[in-house]
Amino acid sequence: MMENIFKPKSSDLGDAAKELLAEQIIEWDLLASGNKSLKSIKVKKFEFEGFDIKVQFNPGRMVSTAAKVDPKSIKERKCFLCPQNLPPAQKGILYQEKYIVLCNPFPIFPEHFTIPGLEHKPQVIKGAFPALIDISKDLSKYYTVFYNGPKCGASAPDHFHFQAGDKNFMPIDGEYENLKSKFGQPVYAGGDITITAIDDTLRKMISFESADKAALAAALDKFYDKYKEIAAVEAEPMLNILAFYGEKGWRILFLLREKHRPSHYFREGEDQILLSPASVDLGGVCITPLEKDFNKITKENLIEIFSEVFISREKLDEIKKETAKLF
Ligand SMILES: [Zn+2]
Repeated sequence: MMENIFKPKSSDLGDAAKELLAEQIIEWDLLASGNKSLKSIKVKKFEFEGFDIKVQFNPGRMVSTAAKVDPKSIKERKCFLCPQNLPPAQKGILYQEKYIVLCNPFPIFPEHFTIPGLEHKPQVIKGAFPALIDISKDLSKYYTVFYNGPKCGASAPDHFHFQAGDKNFMPIDGEYENLKSKFGQPVYAGGDITITAIDDTLRKMISFESADKAALAAALDKFYDKYKEIAAVEAEPMLNILAFYGEKGWRILFLLREKHRPSHYFREGEDQILLSPASVDLGGVCITPLEKDFNKITKENLIEIFSEVFISREKLDEIKKETAKLF
């Protein structure tokens, strides 16, 4: 694995990631072609009341959209995030001696990174909130960090990882303040933390805003436990997380899910739309790896898909109430 370690010149992790990407585009063929394929993507935009949802035709993402994530398929493939399985040409930046920042060879963002732990451990965010808080700050010069739950779009549910991509590429990064004032329902506002529930008609979310790392980590932990209890699941409750660090500190946004893939994914013939929503889709850039889906998808389809994969308004109300009691 040591031969896969990249030694950046910059001490800022964001700048270091940029250095890594510049080098990997030259040195690693798979990344070079993935990066090149981004030039042929197509984008269209749907306007909703207070926010936009884009659709991106990106054939390079088929491998992820159609990823088989059932236990048997996972067991039978070689884990592509384990350090010992990285191709020799793939380099990464060691982070906190626990993670490695890698370039994603099947990008959605112009600059897209995958940040796996060094150990082969399942995708579970519990216990990793301090790491999410640290890395979202350390990459914040250019990037937003995100996490896909094991049943919510992670294509390696068996190997813990975060991802990162260009700040403000997902419309929600820039729309958040508006969404909060238009659709936000205050849950808690203390000295060091503000918690808001947001139902923007399409998405059900809970946000945590804070400039205090310890208070934030403790709050995320408490919320996670309560959400898990309400969801009544053994494993991780269904969620995606967007972690943004800016002038006011952190903003951690939980996207609360009911379902992994919408019914459209499993339909046949003309009715099928191959869209498997994860953080980026729900942040406002929906990926269709097939051009025919890109061409035919409508605003109504997006409304249906989002309403299927998010929890209900009633569930959000319950979570809001229960969360308020914790603080
Ligand atoms: Zn692994």
